[in-house]
Amino acid sequence: MPATSAGMTLERSARGHYSGVMNSPAIAKTKRRGVAIDAAAARPALLLAWYDRHRRRLPWRPPPGEAADPYRVWLSEIMLQQTGVKTVGPYFEKFVARWPDVEAMARASLDDVLRMWAGLGYYSRARNLHACAVAVRRDHRGVFPDSEEGLRALPGIGPYTAAAIAAIAFGRRTMPVDGNIERVVSRLFAVEEPLPQAKPLIQQLATTLLGASRAGDSAQALMDLGSSICTPKKPACALCPLNDECAARGRGDQEIFPRKAPKKTGTLRRGAAFVVTRGNELLVRTRPEKGLLGGMTEVPTSDWIAAQDDKAALQQAPTVKGIARWHRKAGVVTHVFTHFPLELVVCTANVPARTRAPEGMRWVPIATLAGEAFPNLMRKVIAHGLRV
Ligand code: SF4
Repeated sequence: MPATSAGMTLERSARGHYSGVMNSPAIAKTKRRGVAIDAAAARPALLLAWYDRHRRRLPWRPPPGEAADPYRVWLSEIMLQQTGVKTVGPYFEKFVARWPDVEAMARASLDDVLRMWAGLGYYSRARNLHACAVAVRRDHRGVFPDSEEGLRALPGIGPYTAAAIAAIAFGRRTMPVDGNIERVVSRLFAVEEPLPQAKPLIQQLATTLLGASRAGDSAQALMDLGSSICTPKKPACALCPLNDECAARGRGDQEIFPRKAPKKTGTLRRGAAFVVTRGNELLVRTRPEKGLLGGMTEVPTSDWIAAQDDKAALQQAPTVKGIARWHRKAGVVTHVFTHFPLELVVCTANVPARTRAPEGMRWVPIATLAGEAFPNLMRKVIAHGLRV
């Protein structure tokens, strides 16, 4: 019984943390009426009924009642891993127009996939996307495995993505928990334990919201609820299908959930980037396959290290014939990676026509830069360097 087991889990897993839930006015009122179990058991159905009326129209979702295409589900889930729905939409359309199925993507070159991905960030996703397409074609005859276990064995598919694809594309009874679902569940049950420690508990509680069937719709209903109603600030509780039983709403402190452990921000790293032009061309190179921004295009840069001073960074400028002096642009370009912030000074130089590119570098026309696989950081650097 989902409701009973959820209640037991609450007491057993986090006795101290859940006193607020059990004493919340909403729950107490419901319990007085003697319908606490029924109300909790009704949540999956309430959620699905709400989803049937209010589901978001998204390019990767089929019309109601139609089966989802595993390729589209997989592609959208990889794109959505660290990027919002609004940004992903046009990229998704572009990808499926160019590669309508997994076989087509498997036949594409990694360079083409990276180029199409440019601007979406977290580029290891693009490399894994291509590797996964190749693996599905090579090892599974072009058909995605339909179990979480089988999906997790593929490149770039972690536990969350495997659960999302298994539930949405194959109807497996599993609940993928993303940031939206974490917020809804932590409020619904007033989970006092902070993230990320609370993840296993939230996962357990979220699973109690799965319907007996339509697992994918249950998951997408929670995602939509978190995105449109149970928003980080000012949740629209009056419109929420689960509002009668929401512990945080009963206490009136919805916005403090999910509780979060204080953020650790990495140490600031510094360096220099070198924007070298030859007429209407720009000097670029490709980053090593492995590591941060692997395989992406960049202008030459120094090391990025903590406490680097400008002089040391400038000494790492590329050796290009014809550069008498570097011009240091005013200001810096800043970028925040997940584990550290970065600050780059930008130096520019012009060289005469026919100057050869140093080994491992090449000239590309400035007019075609949009088609290069530049990460966002490099787009900022180039814009700063070429600004007159
Ligand atoms: S009642 Fe409000 S806080 Fe609770 S789940 Fe619904 S929208 Fe979120």
